[in-house]
Amino acid sequence: MHKKLFIPGPIDVREDVLQKMATPQIGHRTKEATALQKSISEKLQKLFYTENTIILSTSSGSGLMEGSIRCCTRKRAAVFSVGAFGDRWYKMAKANGVPADKISSTPGNPTTVEMVDEALATGKYDVITVTQNETSAGIMNPVEEIGALLKAKYPEVLYLIDTVSSMGGTKIEVDKIGADVCITSTQKCLGLPAGLSVCSVSERAIEAARQVENRGLYFDLVELYDFVHKKPYQYPSTPALPHMFALDYQMDKILEEGLDNRFARHIEMAEYIRNWARKHFELFVEDKKYLSNTLTTIKNTKGIDISDLNKKLGERGFVISNGYGDLKDVTFRISHMGDYTLDEIKELIANINDILGLE
Ligand SMILES: *Cc1c(COP(=O)(O)O)cnc(C)c1O
Repeated sequence: MHKKLFIPGPIDVREDVLQKMATPQIGHRTKEATALQKSISEKLQKLFYTENTIILSTSSGSGLMEGSIRCCTRKRAAVFSVGAFGDRWYKMAKANGVPADKISSTPGNPTTVEMVDEALATGKYDVITVTQNETSAGIMNPVEEIGALLKAKYPEVLYLIDTVSSMGGTKIEVDKIGADVCITSTQKCLGLPAGLSVCSVSERAIEAARQVENRGLYFDLVELYDFVHKKPYQYPSTPALPHMFALDYQMDKILEEGLDNRFARHIEMAEYIRNWARKHFELFVEDKKYLSNTLTTIKNTKGIDISDLNKKLGERGFVISNGYGDLKDVTFRISHMGDYTLDEIKELIANINDILGLE
């Protein structure tokens, strides 16, 4: 039996979107491939609220995270972490020999403007990375306020943000935030299968990257950028064309729904889960200002057996997620992202209540 995925990615993909992946293949150096890439870029620019260049990568989002920190850091990167995915960005820096420091928040708390200001005041860094939506903690960081600080006091510092589990589910205005690189994957709020990722990249990030000697090749943002511009809208290697057909189609659906409607739907689903969690458990994030709109991390205050709950949910055709890493069993997570509706969330919660004997 298929289990409906309420894990924070991958999530269920609508049948019509899946069907688009079966579109007959085209050559990746054809005019059709160029037109497809151009069409996807223009639609994604609307979703990202940006005029920056859109780059696709035939990899999951981690590829672009690794490539961006490696390509953009000339001096040293300050990696702000509020959980597993912030930590991952730091590991990537280390693995690539990129000088970096990790600045972690206490669990359940965001990266604050003050933390960023304090780090940048040292003058040591020319890049910062922030996880806009941390999928282990269910925290949304104040990326706009951090962007305002950079504009006011540190305009030369490049700003990289991870929106892997939020782009397409919550409003992220890249140009307003001033993000130089903004990364997402297809298998989360965009509602597609895993295997393709997307980023927007500013011209100044590319100019900075040109000064970095050892950028690697497959995830070299400069190489990708130059192909997109000079050999219009094509890629150095063969891109995941099936994904591109589906993404082009899905972006039409997303824009047809209306971005504001889409974001409102995510908030509505989030509110429902949060209210349920408050009634029976506790929310992991301390200050509700920073709660994620696309997934909720719940403190397991009743000490329920999460694997057992998932086993029983599985028999009914659903699956949720245990806590991530150190947060396993002490928290659990429910995603509410992509094309899910409030009714589907209600159905899931009714089943959990039934299994746990909650009212
Ligand atoms: C899922 C996730 C990633 C990793 O993305 P992949 O597409 O699996 O490589 C990175 N950051 C966040 C916040 C995520 O949720």
